[in-house]
Amino acid sequence: MTGLSGAAKLAGVMGWPVSHSRSPRLQGHWLARYDIDGAYLPLPVNPGDFETVFRALPKMGFSGVNVTIPHKEAALLLADEADDLARRIAAANTIIFREDGSSLATNTDGFGFLMNLQDQVSDWKADAPAVVLGAGGAARAIIVALIDRGVPEIRLLNRTKARAEAIAGELGSPVHVLDWTEREAVLSDAGLLVNTTSLGMKDNPPLEIRLDDLSPQATVADIIYAPVETDLLISAKARGSRVVTGPGMLLHQAVPGFEAWFGRRPVVDDALRQAVFPEIYGAP
Ligand code: NAP
Repeated sequence: MTGLSGAAKLAGVMGWPVSHSRSPRLQGHWLARYDIDGAYLPLPVNPGDFETVFRALPKMGFSGVNVTIPHKEAALLLADEADDLARRIAAANTIIFREDGSSLATNTDGFGFLMNLQDQVSDWKADAPAVVLGAGGAARAIIVALIDRGVPEIRLLNRTKARAEAIAGELGSPVHVLDWTEREAVLSDAGLLVNTTSLGMKDNPPLEIRLDDLSPQATVADIIYAPVETDLLISAKARGSRVVTGPGMLLHQAVPGFEAWFGRRPVVDDALRQAVFPEIYGAP
C-alpha cells in the first residue's frame, strides 16, 4: 500500500512516554506486508489527558489501541467492557473500539508469553511446578496464562512479599507465595523458571540466583529483551536447560490486536523479528 485512502483503518499505542515503543514498527511491518489500507501511530498521552483522548479516539474513527505504561490500569477502568483476562490481570494492553463507539478491553501479555514459550520449546508441558520471580504487571499476566494452561503449582517469589500475596489472594490456588530468599530452595522439582523482574536488564542490577538444584529438564524463561541473553539464560543453557528469550513475547502479544483492528491474523516470523529487533536478529 503506497498511500492511505480516506477509509484507512486506524490504530495506535497510547503511552507516556511512548517514543521507546516498538509497537509502531511491529504493527507497521504487518500493515506493509499484508498491503492493508491502515495506519498504526505512536500516541504520546499524558496521564492527565488519558480519559479525554481515550473517549475521543473512537469518535475519530480509530478501530482500537494498545495501551502501555502508565495507562494499563486506567484503560481497564474506562473501557465499557472488559474480558475475563483483563479483569483477572487487573490491567488492559489492548482496546477494541466497536462500530457503535463502545470499547472492549483485553490483555494479550500472557498469550504473548505462552506463544513465545511454545515457539522456542515446542514440547514444553504444563505438568510440573513453575517458579515465577517478580510480582509486577508482567508477572500477573504470565501467572494467569500459566494457571489457564493447567500448571499445577506456581511458586511466586518477590522482593516485596506483600505484592506477591496480593496476586495470590486475587488469583487463588495454585499460586503459593514464598520468601524472595528461598528462590534457590524452590527449584529442585520445577519444570519452569521465569524471571519477570527487571533484574538482569541493561543498566539494572543482576539477578542473583544459583541454578545448582534446577533439573536440566526444566525450561528457563526471561522476559527481559535487553540484553536478549541474560546471565540467567546463559547459566541455564550451560547446565543443559532449554531457554526462552524475551523479544518473542512482545511480538506475539501484538497478534490479537492486529487481527481485531485490521482483519487479518498476522504471523510472527524471521522477517518480523528482524524488522522489530534489528540489533538482535540483524537488519532485514
Ligand atoms: P514492574 O511492574 O515495575 O515490576 C518490576 C518487578 O521487578 C517487581 O517484581 C520488582 O519487585 C522487581 N524488582 C525490581 N528491582 C528489584 C531488585 N533490585 N531486587 C528484586 N526485585 C526487583 O515491571 P513489569 O512491567 O512487570 O516488567 C518487568 C520486566 O519485564 C521489565 O524488565 C520489562 O522490560 C520486562 N517486560 C518484558 C515484556 C516482553 O514482552 N518481553 C513485557 C512486559 C515486561 P518489587 O515488587 O519488590 O519492587
